[in-house]
Amino acid sequence: MTANKTALIIGASRGLGLGLVQRLTEQGWNVIATVRDQHKADDLKKVPGVRIETLDIDEQSSLEVLALNLKDQVLDLLFVNAGIMGPSHQSASKATAAELGQLFMTNAIAPIRLAERFVGQVRAHTGTIAFMSSVLGSVACPDAPEMALYKASKAALNSMTNTFVTQLGDHNITVLSMHPGWVRTAMGGEGADIDVKTSTTGLIEQLNAYAGKGGHHFINYRGETIPW
Ligand code: NAP
Repeated sequence: MTANKTALIIGASRGLGLGLVQRLTEQGWNVIATVRDQHKADDLKKVPGVRIETLDIDEQSSLEVLALNLKDQVLDLLFVNAGIMGPSHQSASKATAAELGQLFMTNAIAPIRLAERFVGQVRAHTGTIAFMSSVLGSVACPDAPEMALYKASKAALNSMTNTFVTQLGDHNITVLSMHPGWVRTAMGGEGADIDVKTSTTGLIEQLNAYAGKGGHHFINYRGETIPW
């Protein structure tokens, strides 16, 4: 059991975010979890003891309300999990500015804006900020050309995270870019390799192992380092 630690999980209505909340709660963490729509959070509401807040990560005004609600909260873990796949065509030739704006805002820009807003509340030395990246964000990864735009958005997230880390100055925390495996969720599909419990159990093992180490690491749920 990990007593008296507090986590803020962004994007916890379902899938991996919900799984992270379930696992952390089981391990004795205090968990604050965000959803876009409180009416679509039935599974999250079943997890005992969770404080549920509302956030659309794309909306600056929504972020300001969350920041105000949590202004006195010290965080041991901030996990930015929210993400989308983008348009079904995944084609540079077909993509509209609106589709790309949505994809890159949600997956690459909004996570960093949120981290910038909360970094001062992450506990120095032992605190962690984790971003849900993907092995598909590794720029040399030849897999999944049918997810080209999604891959680019996660590469952009990794790049933005790298810049974010260079600007931390003396605020000594650990930053993780994490690949959860290929997981059976709405996004991962039924044919994916592993279930949410396996992925989130592994992710939290890595979070516990890396807490206090400092630096920026790109790792999967088994702790294996991924090339940028
Ligand atoms: P999911 O089941 O589709 O869940 C996505 C989550 O993100 C939902 O809670 C969703 O909330 C939230 N979200 C989307 N847009 C948001 C916004 N603008 N503001 C706030 N929340 C938003 O997908 P998942 O598989 O659990 O994916 C979670 C993360 O893991 C994503 O970043 C994804 O890219 C990454 N990932 C997944 C896999 C995989 O195999 N599943 C592999 C690598 C990386 P709503 O319920 O409101 O839509």
